[in-house]
Amino acid sequence: MATMKAVVKTAPGPGAELVDMDIPTPGPDDVLVKVLAASICGTDLHIYEWNEWAQNRIKNMPQTMGHELCGEVVERGANVTHIQIGDIVSAETHIACGHCYLCQTGNAHICVNGRIFGVDVNGVFAEYALVPAANAWLIDKKIPRDYASVMEPLGNAIHTVLAGEINGCSVLVTGCGPIGIMSVAIARICGATKIFATELYDYRLQLAKKVGADFTVNPAKADIVEKVKEHTDGLGVDVVLEMSGAPKAIQQGFDSLRPGGRFSILGIPDKPMVVDWGKDIIFKYATVQGINGRLMFSTWHKTARFLSSGRLDLEPIITHRFRLEEFEKGMELMRSGNCCKVLLYPQSKE
Ligand SMILES: [Zn+2]
Ligand SMILES: [Zn+2]
Repeated sequence: MATMKAVVKTAPGPGAELVDMDIPTPGPDDVLVKVLAASICGTDLHIYEWNEWAQNRIKNMPQTMGHELCGEVVERGANVTHIQIGDIVSAETHIACGHCYLCQTGNAHICVNGRIFGVDVNGVFAEYALVPAANAWLIDKKIPRDYASVMEPLGNAIHTVLAGEINGCSVLVTGCGPIGIMSVAIARICGATKIFATELYDYRLQLAKKVGADFTVNPAKADIVEKVKEHTDGLGVDVVLEMSGAPKAIQQGFDSLRPGGRFSILGIPDKPMVVDWGKDIIFKYATVQGINGRLMFSTWHKTARFLSSGRLDLEPIITHRFRLEEFEKGMELMRSGNCCKVLLYPQSKE
């Protein structure tokens, strides 16, 4: 049987290994994809570093890491008819069961039986990956493969930004990792009128500025709440998009939000945290909204339209590219904060 290279979490503890393994065989409802590009997500870094979340969440080892990809379909299962060999695909990374209450009521992204690539099942940091045909997203071949690879996190950003009114609004994005930076870019083209962004890494803060933030603040050096108040007639912003998961940033978000504003949360705190329920939510009349994944598949349609419109420039957002074998360099760079999206290429000849 033919073999392939894959980045595998072989055992509990920090790190991962590049191993040779059999190329998987698609089941009747799967497609086998030759991975052309795969991008590193914060989640992958958590699993690589083996933080507290990963220790509690990752049960299956050995398991191939990674979930964001662009690939070419090279084989398909017997039941698959709408995807052809040679098609280029990205993939929704949440595998839904299709029959629970949530799947049946249009909320497959929070399926109670949901599984995630690289978290619950083998992922995509490999030369080949299995994708359920229902999760494969056909790519217009005009869209560069690097952009297709980042459609999944881009969908997170689009889902968060568009989860309420944005046009004509003032916005604060707390935490400019890759999804925060993408959120700034989306808010900008969707008609946000004043965009504030915070981030501890200056490299990423500069990128946020480049893609459309009007005011950028490193909270270790300056006071974001003061800055927001100064430029909103003392009122605060209409919308906060929380992307950091950091308790301090979350508090600054509440302190910057105007009464009656929207507070949409994608960043995941490491542990339970304290919120002043009365002051920050009830009396502020705030709409606080948890965001998980992407809507299946309306967010994907929007993401594809943004990409094909040419109005969204992802070039500044994809900052580093490595061969799959160099995944450790990619992880190191993610850890340093001196990057935005980092891509891995598993095909040695391309
Ligand atoms: Zn991701
Ligand atoms: Zn379900």
